[in-house]
Amino acid sequence: MTLTVPPRATSSRLDGLPVAVIGAGPVGLAAAAHLLERGLDVVVFEAGERAGSAVAAWGHVRLFSPWTYLLDPAAVRLLAATGWTAPAGDRSPTGSEFLDSYLGPLARTSTLEPLIRLGCRVTAVSRQGMDRTRSTGRGDTPFLLRVDGDGTPTDVLARAVIDTSGTFHSPNPLTASGLEPSITTKRIVTGLPDVLGSDRPRFAGRRVLVVGAGHSAANALLALGELARAEPGTRVTWAVRNPTAARVFTAADDRLPDRASIGRRLDGLVSSGAVALVDRFEIDAVEEHVERTGEPSTGFIRATGRRAGAPFAIEADVIVNATGFRPDLDLLREIRLGLDDIVEAPRALASLIDPNLHSCGTVPPHGVAELTHPEPDFFIAGMKSYGRAPTFLLATGYEQVRSIADELAGHHDAARVVHLSLPATGVCSTAPADDATTDSTRSDAGCCTTSSPVPTTAASCCR
Ligand SMILES: Cc1cc2nc3c(=O)[nH]c(=O)nc-3n(C[C@H](O)[C@H](O)[C@H](O)COP(=O)(O)OP(=O)(O)OC[C@H]3O[C@@H](n4cnc5c(N)ncnc54)[C@H](O)[C@@H]3O)c2cc1C
Repeated sequence: MTLTVPPRATSSRLDGLPVAVIGAGPVGLAAAAHLLERGLDVVVFEAGERAGSAVAAWGHVRLFSPWTYLLDPAAVRLLAATGWTAPAGDRSPTGSEFLDSYLGPLARTSTLEPLIRLGCRVTAVSRQGMDRTRSTGRGDTPFLLRVDGDGTPTDVLARAVIDTSGTFHSPNPLTASGLEPSITTKRIVTGLPDVLGSDRPRFAGRRVLVVGAGHSAANALLALGELARAEPGTRVTWAVRNPTAARVFTAADDRLPDRASIGRRLDGLVSSGAVALVDRFEIDAVEEHVERTGEPSTGFIRATGRRAGAPFAIEADVIVNATGFRPDLDLLREIRLGLDDIVEAPRALASLIDPNLHSCGTVPPHGVAELTHPEPDFFIAGMKSYGRAPTFLLATGYEQVRSIADELAGHHDAARVVHLSLPATGVCSTAPADDATTDSTRSDAGCCTTSSPVPTTAASCCR
C-alpha cells in the first residue's frame, strides 16, 4: 500500500487538495458540478464500472418524478454548454432513460469525465495520521480515503469529503429484528429484480412472497401481477408488517401522477385476488427446505414469525426482500459523526425528515446547517443522508450539495439560504403512525421508496 502525499502549493496542509466525493450517482455528480462552478478542485470515486451504477441496477423501473424534479441546476448548466437539451415531457423516465438522457451525458462532459474514478470503492475515511480520538489540529489535517480499485488499496488525501454513496447496496434485512437471517440462500432476492426481463426465469410459475410496503415492493408486485397473467402457476403473496398497506394505495392526492398510478394499479391487483395481501406479519426467521432429490427447484423457503401475536408462516419458492435500505456506516468508523439514534440521519436533519411526520413532499428545505457533523468539512448527502428514512427525493439532495459547495467555497451566507419546491404527495403519510407496531423507517411501513489535479495514484487505481 502506498500513502499518497500530493504536492502542497502552500504551507497549509489542505491547500492543493481536492474535495473528495464518494459515489457518482445523481447527487455525487451534482456535488461535483456545484463544486466546479465555485472553482474548487474535485475528485469523484465510484465503486461501479459506470457513473450512476446504482440507478443502472434498477434501470427497468420507472421513476415516479417527472424530469423537472430530476435535474440538478448546476449539472444542467454544465450540460447546456455542450449543446445538450433537457428531456421534455411530464412522463417520468425509467432508470435507464434517466441514465441515458442525463447521468451518462453529464458524466461524459469533458469537465467531469477526467475527475471521475470508476471501479474505485472507498473502503474507509479517516484523517491523515489521526484516528477519531485525536483532536488537536484536526480541522487542518487532510482527510485520508482508502480507495480500493482492482483489489489494490491506495490512500488518497482530500481537503473535504462529501459522502454521496447512497444506500442501494445495503438493504434492510428481512427479519423484524433488523438482523440478517441466519441462512444465506439464493431464494431471497434483494434490490429491484427485473421480473419481466432478465430475472423472469426466477419467478415464472413460482410461488413468490414479496415483503415490504414501499414503492420497491409495489413495483415488484405490479410486474409479478403481469407475469402471473402470462405464466400459469405463478402465485404472488405480499406480506407487510403493519395493519394496512394504505399508504401505498392511498395515492389520490399524490401530485406525482406516475406514483399515484402505482398505488391504484396495486390496489386493483389486491382487490381482484391476483395478489394475496398478508398484513401484520413480522418475520423472525427464514428456513430453506431442500427435497431429497437435492434439486434446489424442488425445495422451498419458509418465512416464520408472528401475525397479530400468534405464530404464523408463509411458504414460497422465492422471497423478494423489499424492506428498504439503510446506510453503510462501516467506512466512516474513524470519522466523528453526529447521527440520530433512530433514523441514522444527521441529528438536525432527522426531525425534518421523520417519516411519521413528513412525506417526501413536506420535507422542509435544508442544507449545510442541518448536514454538519462534529467532523469539520465532512458531509453525508443524497439518499444516504436520510439514513433509514424512506422520504428522500433528488430535488432535496441537489439543494443539499449546492449548499455544501457554497460552504466549502467560503460563501457561508449563501450556504444557509436554502430553496426547495417539492411535489406534495399522498403516498407518504403525514399522520403519525397508527399502530404501535408501525415502524416508518422501513419501507414495509410506508413511504416512497419511496479541476484540478487529483493525486496521481488515485488515477492509477481507477478507471
Ligand atoms: C426504484 C427507485 C425509484 C426512485 N425514484 C425516484 C424518483 O422518481 N424521484 C426521486 O426524487 N427519487 C427517486 N428515488 C430515490 C433516490 O432519488 C434515488 O435512489 C437516487 O438514485 C439517489 O441518488 P444518490 O446519488 O444519493 O445515490 P445513488 O444513486 O445510490 O448513487 C450512489 C453511488 O455511489 C456508489 N457507491 C456506493 N458505495 C460506494 C463506495 N464505498 N465508494 C465509491 N462509490 C460508492 C454507487 O455505486 C452509486 O453509483 C428512487 C429510488 C429507487 C430505488
